[in-house]
Amino acid sequence: RSEREILEGSPIIISTEGAKGQNITIQTAPIASVLGVVTLPPTRTYPFDAVFGPEADQAMIYQDVVYPMLDEVLKGYNCTLFAYGQTGTGKTYTMQGDVSLSPLGNPTAQAGMIPRTLFKLFHQLESSGCDYSVKISYVELYNEELRDLIATEQDGQSGLKIFDDASKRGVFIQGLEDTPVKDFNHALTLLAKGSQKRQIAATKFNDHSSRSHSVFAITVHCKETSSLGDDVLKVGKFNLVDLAGSENIGRSGAENKRAREAGMINQSLLTLGRVINALVDKSSHVPYRESKLTRLLQDSLGGRTKTCIIATVSPARSNMEETLSTLDYALRAKSIRNKPEVNQR
Ligand code: ADP
Repeated sequence: RSEREILEGSPIIISTEGAKGQNITIQTAPIASVLGVVTLPPTRTYPFDAVFGPEADQAMIYQDVVYPMLDEVLKGYNCTLFAYGQTGTGKTYTMQGDVSLSPLGNPTAQAGMIPRTLFKLFHQLESSGCDYSVKISYVELYNEELRDLIATEQDGQSGLKIFDDASKRGVFIQGLEDTPVKDFNHALTLLAKGSQKRQIAATKFNDHSSRSHSVFAITVHCKETSSLGDDVLKVGKFNLVDLAGSENIGRSGAENKRAREAGMINQSLLTLGRVINALVDKSSHVPYRESKLTRLLQDSLGGRTKTCIIATVSPARSNMEETLSTLDYALRAKSIRNKPEVNQR
């Protein structure tokens, strides 16, 4: 192959400091060779709290990123984990992955963050000695329509409506099933059932999987007796969010021109970008109410929740624009400061 072909096909990620580090360096142009003098290609380095290279596996990401968040949920905080990135870069693999059981009844090596969180959650609760209950809900947002992924057809599952819940300073979804789960196997069965529903819709409609968002929410009540003999109830909530493909959004956080021309406006993803921009710019108006997703997750953005975004990127040169766009977006979101509060009664 010619030098040019090799460069065009070469990966653009030139460093992630091995399996994990804190910087990712992107080569933004091929090496230029003018009259035999090779000039160094322009690069851009992005600093994040953690960067995982291709060698990193699900267990490593869970241990470093998600397990510390579960600890906070058990202390009574609300936490949200987002997966953001171009379609095909591994959002669903990271969040969900394999939802089957290993022969020993554990999550498999390919299990994503949701099954691993459920497994560890029940393990921790069972050994904590506290009086606990766990509820889960699983919704999908497609074309600004909310759908319950756990309720059966007969329960009526689409057209769910979001209402403000003044007493809890949040929102609630009318008709959404918040299902009590007794153990890991039960929770995993419901996750698998919901994921299958998403998969069926993806097979039916071409753009469904790249344009739908899903929110898997775990609510944990844990009652303990303090050293003074009082009952203390801690309520923590964990939202695990698999967002629509970021290719719907352009570099500036506005709707991608091509997506707009094709009539594929993704209101929720567009508003999420605007909300992040408004929070970063400390603007007096944050447009949470302009989409279902931002309304649903208002508290996770600039609110009282501990929030983490996993940005997934492709190493291929042909995806460079999208990769830079995802990294710019994630870096911008990183400067938002939330004010987490514990839910204790
Ligand atoms: P997205 O949700 O961002 O559109 P997917 O999670 O569906 O992307 O990933 C696209 C494909 O790549 C899937 O077949 C998935 O199994 C595979 N994949 C993604 N990330 C990994 C990874 N880290 N290791 C192995 N396979 C992966």
